Amino acid sequence: MPCQTNSELNELILQAKRETEGGRVADYIPALAKANPADFSVAIIHPDGLCISAGDIDKKFTLQSISKVLTLALALCDNGEKYVFSKVGYEPTGDPFNSIIKLETNNPSKPLNPMINAGALAVTHLIKGDSVPDRIEHILKFVRKLAGNDKITYSKQVAESELATSNLNRALCYFMKQHGVINEEVEELMDLYTKQCAIEMDCLDLARIGVVFSLDGKDPQSGEQLLPAEVARLCKTFMVTCGMYNASGEFAIRVGIPAKSGVSGAIMGSVPNQFGIGIYGPALNDIGNSSTGIRLLEILSEKYSLSMF
Ligand code: GLN
Repeated sequence: MPCQTNSELNELILQAKRETEGGRVADYIPALAKANPADFSVAIIHPDGLCISAGDIDKKFTLQSISKVLTLALALCDNGEKYVFSKVGYEPTGDPFNSIIKLETNNPSKPLNPMINAGALAVTHLIKGDSVPDRIEHILKFVRKLAGNDKITYSKQVAESELATSNLNRALCYFMKQHGVINEEVEELMDLYTKQCAIEMDCLDLARIGVVFSLDGKDPQSGEQLLPAEVARLCKTFMVTCGMYNASGEFAIRVGIPAKSGVSGAIMGSVPNQFGIGIYGPALNDIGNSSTGIRLLEILSEKYSLSMF
């Protein structure tokens, strides 16, 4: 079923743009600095396959932190809940996503949750396979299945750009290696993590993954269980408590849906049993979330009473 351009959604984007101040594209990963801050696109996919969209939906972007939800789901499928949560905790932090402070002050040193960089690196460490190419292929296969798109791959250019500049993430890895959270070579883990963050798609793919989570892991077309309902439930809970970095509390109050953002300016939302939403708007607010994207979700939540709470 082709995705229909929707004029009401278009109006709401214009309103969200008017009501947000500029924002800046992420530049600490040099390849992301090339994004056009004026770009914006959104797609919404319902369980029956109905798709509506607005903006330039052909624009591709990298998942960045949204990949953390997907590797968490895969690591849970591969290793089980008990083992995964022996390496990473359940609790939100009030700190930026790349902060190291809690690794030092918490005893035992274990990242607080899988949605911050330290926690995501600990989770990616658990992805099975004999080599980095094997493991990224394992992740891609899973992502393609959730998106229903076997063409999805990662951007070599964005992965290389992050790998060349990612010294904070390296520091997190060395810290965790010292404390026994991870035991592989740091460069190998960084190579895999930066490739995972560079997985590229458009907002239709993202909305489709969102709707799979909305449906507790079911494929909207075939009804096939693509991941266990319990894994989908765990991921959605983390999206609510930690998905929007250290703005997750405010987002839960103002929007109230499971969502995950990335510094590319993408946001994936999963309105339980209703629809999946994929947003791309690379102009970010100070916390690192798409500023127009957040405003659009606030408007949609209010207008259509989407909040779970
Ligand atoms: N690849 C990015 C990083 O590790 C992802 C961060 C994000 O999207 N918040 O810094």
